[in-house]
Parts: sequence; structure tokens; C-alpha cells
Amino acid sequence: MQPEIRQTLKITDTTAAKLEKLHLHSAWDLALHLPLRYEDETQIVPIAAAAVGEICQVEGVVVYQEVQFKPRKQLIARIQDGSGAMLNLRFIHFYPSHQKQLAQGETVRVLGEIKRGYFGDEMIHPKIKSAEKSDLAQSLTPIYPTTNGLNQPTLRKAVQVALNAVDVSEILPDTVLRKLKLPPLAESLRTLHHPPPDLDMKTLANGAFPAWQRLKFDELLAQQLSMRLARQRRRSGHAKSLVGNGFLSEKLLANLPFRLTAAQEKVCAEIRADLAKSVPMHRLLQGDVGSGKTIVAALSALVALENDGVQVAVMAPTEILAEQHFIKFKQWFEPLGISVAWLSGSLKKKEKEQAKAALADGRIRLAVGTHALFQHDVLFDNLALVIVDEQHRFGVAQRLALKNKGEDVHQLMMSATPIPRTLAMSFFADLDVSSIDELPPNRTPIKTKLVNHLRRAEVEGFVLSTCQKGQQAYWVCPLIEESETLQLQTATETWENLQAALPDLKIGLVHGRMKPAEKAAVMAEFVSGSLNVLVATTVIEVGVDVPNASLMVIEHAERMGLAQLHQLRGRVGRGAAASTCVLLFAEPLGQISKARLKVIYEHTDGFEIARQDLEIRGPGEFLGARQSGAPMLRFADLATDVSLLEQARQLAPMLIAEYPDVVEKHLERWLGSKEGFLAA
Ligand code: ADP
Ligand code: MG
Repeated sequence: MQPEIRQTLKITDTTAAKLEKLHLHSAWDLALHLPLRYEDETQIVPIAAAAVGEICQVEGVVVYQEVQFKPRKQLIARIQDGSGAMLNLRFIHFYPSHQKQLAQGETVRVLGEIKRGYFGDEMIHPKIKSAEKSDLAQSLTPIYPTTNGLNQPTLRKAVQVALNAVDVSEILPDTVLRKLKLPPLAESLRTLHHPPPDLDMKTLANGAFPAWQRLKFDELLAQQLSMRLARQRRRSGHAKSLVGNGFLSEKLLANLPFRLTAAQEKVCAEIRADLAKSVPMHRLLQGDVGSGKTIVAALSALVALENDGVQVAVMAPTEILAEQHFIKFKQWFEPLGISVAWLSGSLKKKEKEQAKAALADGRIRLAVGTHALFQHDVLFDNLALVIVDEQHRFGVAQRLALKNKGEDVHQLMMSATPIPRTLAMSFFADLDVSSIDELPPNRTPIKTKLVNHLRRAEVEGFVLSTCQKGQQAYWVCPLIEESETLQLQTATETWENLQAALPDLKIGLVHGRMKPAEKAAVMAEFVSGSLNVLVATTVIEVGVDVPNASLMVIEHAERMGLAQLHQLRGRVGRGAAASTCVLLFAEPLGQISKARLKVIYEHTDGFEIARQDLEIRGPGEFLGARQSGAPMLRFADLATDVSLLEQARQLAPMLIAEYPDVVEKHLERWLGSKEGFLAA
């Protein structure tokens, strides 16, 4: 937080540090920091009428107080109100001041959630006030999102001061507000920060309440404006126009064991057309798992490399995937006389220095790696095209690094996860999209089986017979979100059990805790076929391509999300052999798990699965939404506020054309301190 702002707002250093943690840097950030919920301190509920689970305020005389030491040190007090009903108060953390406040005979007002305790109803850590000293509140009390060590009164005061310091005058044109039927900003902010006495909780909790609608609209508008401006900026940038003469790509095509599908041809042409322009390309290549995006990436890279001295970078989100690409690209490109560099976090210092030097002086023209490619100290001689695989897996910070490196370079992003329409309209509004809508021919459809985990022995038998036919199998262990250690333990146990059950097979193990080099070594053994079975945690989820693997067993499939199941299943069915995916599940199954397993059992088309996934989860949860900047939307919800989004989207171009000063002011209010992130 800037010192001047801190001074104007009279905020102490410690408070300022906490506010920074909440990403509150400016007075406007604070003014737009809206309550999460409200507490009702306007009335006193008779203890007898306070129901379990309700948050309410009650008042009574302290009739008992004790510090207990068993089972742990805690302060217990009991209050009684006029009706004779009693309520226990319990504090696990307390200070002498609590004991004083709750001295026998004092009349206190407490607010908290009524819980069912062992000795009757109780409140744990309620808010306490002396009844004599405090009047009842006139209106609901706002409760703000906060962070450890920053209490509500301090935060409330900071918001209050900021609200008085900023200029909340209306900037949106009158005609616009009238048409949208939205209340003025100043009034909306006032209502939400200080609800008038006649407003009740229910009204305020409803997102359709006009004051909320106004704030959501303004937020969406800021997002639309900034996306549009980013697009304009990009379009006015200059990238190198890359026209390939085909001498490399034709050689590669001739060496391939297959011909491109019509869909691959089509997207290649779209990309080629973009690369020929001096406007930087910003294109997303969408295509289901196994649709053959990698060869499209390689051909696009060749278009660029057919131009003298030009460099291309290919980035993947995980070491395993980046390494796979490295191997593929080397195999494809070295026969064409193009050497490929490998850059990842796990490289030895000396190797890294060598790769970096070769990139800096242009000796190496194609680099493959993880986001290590875009660290500050990696310099390119003449970078013209960046290809990003599985782009939705990258975080905001990584994308920002890429962007800083890649001003004025062409960008091709690839993803197997289709973007829902609302996201496409908002966060990805600055992307052109190409889709591969057909799978390569001669794929035998994957057969999916749902099997109760109690029938594990049968599944092991199936693994054996599959491998005896010369094919390979994956065995994927459950995702244990709570504990990485536990996940590791399960994977190791599964590996040991499987080895014991199938002594004739060679079984390898990869998991997230292994060093990248160890992981790569095991993967290489599996790729070469010297391992029959690969036991893996979900690290293999993205991109791994071993066509000879025809069986995928997934344990505890009921715990996994649909996108993940689809990605995992897509690891098989890449070769000519008929492939099977066995989904092991453990009962009892919850509603959502049941619905998901039904979808994955019935469908193989990634777009259809993504559509149904959205129905089950809602787009807020969409894979990648979080990384793609959705936290930037604090109030609007892409699932419920589609019509506001449409309106903001329609309004944005008009404002940019006719009211540039309004645009500037609006963005200053909403993104003043966050601009860098949104453009990423
Ligand atoms: P993804 O789109 O999931 O990244 P990949 O690029 O890994 O898919 O391709 C999956 C598999 O399909 C690879 O083994 C690849 O060599 C193969 N493949 C790609 N295009 C074709 C094609 N036109 N005909 C046959 N096989 C293809
Ligand atoms: Mg891929």
C-alpha cells in the first residue's frame, strides 16, 4: 500500500501489511471490499427461542463461571435471561479480560451460533458486549472477508475511512444506467457497507438485490473493458510476419507414419494464416484428448523455422509432459537438421547455462521445456513463436512471465478442455479459437468398465492377460487431496501389492514426490516397453502418449472429477489395439459421484463430457477457471450473472469508442492496482 494512501487513511503499518495480504492496496480496493455476510445485532432473541444452528444475539445475567482444565483448559460461563432459560458460553482461547467481562452477576449481550453441546446448548467464542454500555445496533453489521490477525472492527474502520476518501460520484452515462435499470454506485456502496435499518438479512444475501447487481455489473464491465483494451493493444503490436515456404514441413509430413486428418489440416491452415500477419497471433487450439494437437504444434513451429534465424519455444506445464514433447520434437526435427534444446528446472546448472547461451546467441532455434523457459535470465536471440501446451494448467504468475517475455510474439495455446461459453466471453475474450473436431482414424473406441473394488483380483487377472499379449497397462492411484504423504503411501502400497500379485510382470512406479530425473527414467522405461505396468499417481494425467498402452485401471474413480477421468482415460486408445478403461469404485457412492461415473461410462466425447460436467458443477468450478483469473471476479458469478455479463459485453465497445475518460476512470477504480494481472 502506498505511504500516501496509508497516511490519508490513517492505517498503521501492521494493518497495512494485513490489507496487502487481502490484495487491498488502494483506497478504492478498500471501498470495493464488500461484506461477505451480515450479523444481526439489532435485536435480542430470547434464549428459549434461539434454535441450534442459528447465529443470533441473546442477553442474560452471568450465573456461573469456571476455568476447567480437563479435557483441556477452557473458560466456561453460563448466562440466564428473563425467561429463565440458560445458555453455556465456551472459550478455548481466552484472556483475563474475558473472565472479567463474564464475572458473575454481570449482564452481557453475546452473539454467536447456537450449538448443541454436551451439557446443553452453547456458544463457542461468542462476541461479548456489556449490556448496560451498548445500545442495540440500528442496522445489520457487515462482516468482511479477512485474514488472520486482522479483526473486523479494524477492517470495518479502514473500509469506512476509505469510503469517505474516494470520489464515488457516478461516472457511467445516465442513459446507460436508466437502460440497465441499475441504482447509482454511491447509493449501492452505501447500502452494502451500511445497510439501512429496514433491510433484512435475506434481502442482502440475495445476489439479485439491485445494489449487488450494480456492483457485479461494474465488475464485469471493468473486466470486459480491460480485455478489449488488451486486445486492441495486442492488435496494434508488431510481430514478425512468418511465411513458411514448406521445405521443412513437407519433409516432416513425408516422414510421418500417418496422414493428417481434415481437421488437423484445417487448423494448420488457420494457424499459418495468423503467422503470416504482423499482428501477434493469440490463438487457442482446442482438441479432445488424443486428437493430435502435438503434430499441429510441430508443423506450426516449422512454419516459423522456415524463416531465417527465427526461434520457437514450446512450453508444457509438467516435467513429464515437457520431456515427452522434447523426445517427440527431437525425433521429428533432428532429421530435418534442427537441433532442439531442453530447459527445465531440474537441469544441472552447467547444462542450463549451456542451453541458455545457445538460445541467447541463436545457435539453437527450438527450445522445449517447462516454465523454466520464461525465467528472467533466459534470453532469446529472435523468439517469434511461443507454443503453450495444456495452457489451462498454468497459473496466472506463469502466464504473466510468458507475457512479459512474449510481447510481440505469436502465441499458440493448446488445450483439451473446451472453454464454456461464459468463460470464452469473459476471460478468454482476447483469444481466437481453432478446434480439432475429429479424431485420427482407426482408433478402436475405448471400452469403459465400472467395477467394484472388491473385485480387484479379477482386474489384476485382466492386467496379466493384457500384458501377456504384449500390451501395457496403467494403474492409477487415488487422489488424496488432504495429504500428499498419504497419497504416496497408497501408491507405494498399490505398487507392492501388484508386484506380489503379478510376479511375472515388470511394474514401475511414478509419483509426484520423485525427482524429475527419476520420474523421467521410469517413464522412459515404460515408453520403451521394458515395463509392463506403470503404477502412477495422477501425475500422468496430462499429455503422456504411449500408444502401446491399452489398459487403464483407475482406483477410487468416484473421487475424481470428470475432466480428470476423461484426461486419464485418454492415455489409452492411442494405438491400434482395442483399449479398456476400468474404473474401480468403492461404495457408498454420493450423488455427484454417481452422476459423474454415469457420464464417463456413457460418453467418450470430451466436449459432451465437459458440457455435462458443467451441469453437475456449475462453471465457477470449471477446471482452469481459478487459474485463468476467475478470482478476479469477486462478486459476479458466471453461472448466475450471464445476463449482466452480456450487457457489460455489449456496452464495452460503445464506452471505449465514445467515452474514453469514463473507461479510464472505471478501470482505475476497479483495477488500478491489479491491471497487470488481468491482461495476462
Ligand atoms: P493430444 O491432442 O491429446 O495432444 P497427441 O498429439 O498426443 O494428442 O496425439 C495422440 C496420438 O495420435 C499420437 O500417438 C499421435 O502420433 C497420433 N496421431 C496424431 N495425428 C494423427 C493422424 N492424423 N493419424 C493417426 N495418428 C495420429
Ligand atoms: Mg497433448
